[in-house]
Amino acid sequence: MDLSIVVPIYNEVDNLRPLCERVHAVLAPTDWSYELILIDDGSQDGSSELLAELHAEDDTLKVLRFRRNFGQTAALAAGFEYAQGDVIVSLDGDLQNDPIDIPRLLAKLDEGYDLVNGWRVNRQDPFLHRRLPSQIANHMISLTTRVKLHDYGCTLKAFRREVAKGLKLYGEMHRFIPALAGDMGARIAELPVTHHARKHGTSKYGLTRTLWVVLDLLTVKFMSSYATRPSHLFGFLGLIAVLVGGGITTVLGIQRLLFDVQLANRPILLLGILLLVTGVQLVTTGLIAEMLARTYHESQEKPVYWIKDVLE
Ligand code: UDP
Ligand code: MG
Repeated sequence: MDLSIVVPIYNEVDNLRPLCERVHAVLAPTDWSYELILIDDGSQDGSSELLAELHAEDDTLKVLRFRRNFGQTAALAAGFEYAQGDVIVSLDGDLQNDPIDIPRLLAKLDEGYDLVNGWRVNRQDPFLHRRLPSQIANHMISLTTRVKLHDYGCTLKAFRREVAKGLKLYGEMHRFIPALAGDMGARIAELPVTHHARKHGTSKYGLTRTLWVVLDLLTVKFMSSYATRPSHLFGFLGLIAVLVGGGITTVLGIQRLLFDVQLANRPILLLGILLLVTGVQLVTTGLIAEMLARTYHESQEKPVYWIKDVLE
């Protein structure tokens, strides 16, 4: 199998038939062997039944049906897990991404990249509550993670199999796929793609998503920089606090014991004690995090490295 197309579907009943037709219109004339994997993320609008119908008519179509709505990230993760192709392409099921771009993505991938990310140059979504928050999120992600792109939210992407399969996706992390792939050492490129306004159905996201991005960013940053050495982060802050706190309390202690200075009216005493206590706590948190990091990697046999290839 050359190619797997992975599409998350949540309440997209009017888009399903045209989606399948467009994908086939683009891929059938090529000589690639491909499968189209649609993941029904607990739809309640009849998508689920329609998918069964479409599946009966179409050999290349594979349908995974979730028991309930688990979210777009989970749907993508399930599709990646199930996919058999050497190259995996993900796209939205609402016809906002256009399958017509798939051959260009694959050509770009062939130039020697592991992930080609779509960039919705002319994004057809409302400005105030969709494009603006998305631009802010893109800037933040670009500043914080080591992968610099314009449009992290675009689902249209092409992956080499190992990269898609190596991603560990949680919560709403699909926006951070390039960052996560970057951590694996993947070579990443960006390609302008077409984007259409939504004709059928409604968007599943609102403004609150931007808030989650901030928190997710924190997680991704922490995981990518400190997952294998958390005590460096906590321990660093903790040591500074202990040093400053220790310094303050030592000076105050000498003043009190040797020079008989009264400490009851010295607020700085409180600061010194506070720093000492939080510092000790930070250092020990770092040690606990070290143990957790080992459990995290060893219990799931997660390597702390990614091998590109082996020359024997
Ligand atoms: N989607 C999903 N599960 C969800 C929410 C969305 O599978 O819980 C799918 C949805 O059907 C669509 C894609 O994810 O195919 C992108 O969703 P949407 O178009 O609502 O996002 P937007 O384009 O507005 O960012
Ligand atoms: Mg959409």
